[in-house]
Amino acid sequence: MKKILITGGAGFIGSHLSKRLLDEGNYVICLDNLYSGSKKNIEILLKNPNFKFVEYDVTDKYFSEVNQIYNLACPASPIYYQKNPIKTLKTSVLGIINMLELAKENNASILQASTSEIYGNPNIHPQVESYFGNVNPIGIRSCYDEGKRCAETLMFDYKREYNTDIKVARIFNAYGPNMAINDGRVVSNFIVQALRNEPITIYGDGSQTRSFCFVDDILDGLIKLMNSKYSGPYNLGIPCENTINEIAKIIMELTNSHSKIVYKELPKDDPVKRKPDISLAQKDLSFNPKVPLITGIKKTVEYFKEII
Ligand code: UDP
Repeated sequence: MKKILITGGAGFIGSHLSKRLLDEGNYVICLDNLYSGSKKNIEILLKNPNFKFVEYDVTDKYFSEVNQIYNLACPASPIYYQKNPIKTLKTSVLGIINMLELAKENNASILQASTSEIYGNPNIHPQVESYFGNVNPIGIRSCYDEGKRCAETLMFDYKREYNTDIKVARIFNAYGPNMAINDGRVVSNFIVQALRNEPITIYGDGSQTRSFCFVDDILDGLIKLMNSKYSGPYNLGIPCENTINEIAKIIMELTNSHSKIVYKELPKDDPVKRKPDISLAQKDLSFNPKVPLITGIKKTVEYFKEII
């Protein structure tokens, strides 16, 4: 039985990962300060004797005996991470330093949940791992983008200096059940608005694109990477690209919504397009995301129907 630490374990991806790793027979320690995560996401896991929840902020040092660390702690939605930008940056930077120290002390493997945001507003399309990105270092998204970039730097510096067993996954727009109802990201916003027959808020003209990957597929990639001999970085996402207008249409149809569309101002530095090149993860990790958008959105709609 492996002892696995998940920071941000009560969050959207973290809660699914906790469940999956418990189901696979591991002991899971979940650290979360519940800023954007929620105890509701892990309620069912709390009864499991192999699950331990610790309300904790990763900017503080933490010690425990562990074999693997998944560092997921950080608010990931623009609304949340921009609320307290300095705290966001500290969470990424101090958080990964504390977790890398823990990995070093335990001789444990550590995976950093990085993001497509490290490519910023990309000049090459689709994005490959060798692309260094186009990030504004002083904008409103920088607290997240630069924090995540710095965390990647620290991962590779620990590998070079201490031979720490690191793994970096760059996650592209994950969605699914357990997203917070007021998360502010496009899939959860549109589903909640559509179910309530409230206006669907499209920012800008809706022509910007993203590639939306269902959470189960992201979990496959994370676990495969953690248990591989590779460090990455690897793009984890689905190479299907949709405009935000298309997402609105799909969600309105699947929910039989009477919502109207309203166009709002595009937030500053909002990337125009984004799509992962996943050939590297396909080759090295046999990572093959398989949940079609419609199937994933349907499952997410069911979840929100239940909690609204
Ligand atoms: N977006 C939108 N309406 C919303 C929320 C988001 O049009 O209610 C847009 C947002 O401007 C961006 C895209 O949807 O272009 C994806 O936004 P999200 O916050 O989900 O992810 P990220 O921008 O971090 O990829």
